[in-house]
Amino acid sequence: MRGPHLTYTKALKAFKLTGVSGAYWRGDKNNKMLTRINGIAFASKDDLDKHLELLAEAERRDHRKIGREMELFMMSDAGPGFPFWLPNGMIVRNSLMDYWHDMQAQYGYDEVQTPIILSRSLWETSGHWDHYKENMYTTQIDDEDFAIKPMNCPGACLIYKSKPRSYRDLPLKLAEAGLDLRHELKGALHGLFRVREFTQDDAHLFIRPDQITEQVTDVTHLITAYYAQFGFPYRVELSTRPENSMGSDEDWNHAERSLKEALDSMGIEYTLNEGDGAFYGPKIDFHLKDCLGRTWQCGTIQLDFQLPHNFQLEYTDADGSKKQPIMIHRAGFGSFERFIGMLTEQFAGKFPTWLSPCQVKVLPVSEKTRDYANEVAARFRAAGVRVKVDDRDEKIGYKIREARSIDRVPYMLILGEKEAAAGNVSVRDRSNETTQRELDEFIADITTEISNRTM
Ligand SMILES: [Zn+2]
Repeated sequence: MRGPHLTYTKALKAFKLTGVSGAYWRGDKNNKMLTRINGIAFASKDDLDKHLELLAEAERRDHRKIGREMELFMMSDAGPGFPFWLPNGMIVRNSLMDYWHDMQAQYGYDEVQTPIILSRSLWETSGHWDHYKENMYTTQIDDEDFAIKPMNCPGACLIYKSKPRSYRDLPLKLAEAGLDLRHELKGALHGLFRVREFTQDDAHLFIRPDQITEQVTDVTHLITAYYAQFGFPYRVELSTRPENSMGSDEDWNHAERSLKEALDSMGIEYTLNEGDGAFYGPKIDFHLKDCLGRTWQCGTIQLDFQLPHNFQLEYTDADGSKKQPIMIHRAGFGSFERFIGMLTEQFAGKFPTWLSPCQVKVLPVSEKTRDYANEVAARFRAAGVRVKVDDRDEKIGYKIREARSIDRVPYMLILGEKEAAAGNVSVRDRSNETTQRELDEFIADITTEISNRTM
């Protein structure tokens, strides 16, 4: 082990043993079997307790556990790393996707969809066949090699190239909720966080060199608007030219200056990672912080001089000369899968109403109010609210507990004879507060909450 090592365990102040297992000396099964004792240690009991509490909280919020309880998604041995979306998860996914479509339209993107399987020669042009092949699933069609796309960029380049482009056509902003497959090692798979099939909230912008600052500013506004919507704090890193990069000094200096200008003009603080950019261009990364203090790299804005060169992309400039556009790759969520995994943990399954699989659960207190419960539910359904009625012959306390801890619904309507007689509803929200409401008034409030995507 790399250490640090202690001579005496007595030096440990606050510790807890977390596991015991067998291990061969130096990992060689011809050697003696030893006992490995795992534990964690902290300088104080307070720090240890805090850490244990955080671990327990992480377990309570684990999206795999909550995903099972709420029936959001499932995994099968038939497809390791290939998630199945269940009806409830599909609602979360579609609601997030609707938000994403709205934002693309608002920020002036055109949406496209590129094919899932493309020819070997395309991946040779893009460089993936030579540099990324071990992560790609390949197949043969008509005796020719093909690959399932691990990224959407080459497809976007083909769309760019499908007709002549003029300087006036730029920026060309193509968004794609792009389905990608990448081979990940089986041991690295983890719920929705690490999968082999995922949908990126991708986009490719083809721009002129004089548009870098303006377009990077615009993309940054979009990405930070997502994080503001979901309440994630974030930090930003700017990575600059590494050794062995492609492109001229002049291009790199201009691009890096433009990225800094964009961030500075928005007053965004960032860490500078000198020499940490990709060989094909500088980039900005966004790291989100969740409620457990963990950070996740989700958003990225990546400038690219290489792909436009490989695909010989060009536009006609004002003076009639042919120029090469710069490409920007960008994503805000990273992938819908991972972001939904994060949201599930962030909210511990208590999604805001607009994302909740079930928005209102109607609980008749007894058989006597079953008809009234169904009438009320019909009113919500007609207003476009996702509603369910729990009319099982169970005790009301049991139904409430299940609605709260399994379905995690934002609103329960508990309907007894009093409510049925008055024609109103008794609403219990997540803070466990119960209020008597007029039905019309409550429907108006919840539909506004949903359409405003209130958090
Ligand atoms: Zn890309």
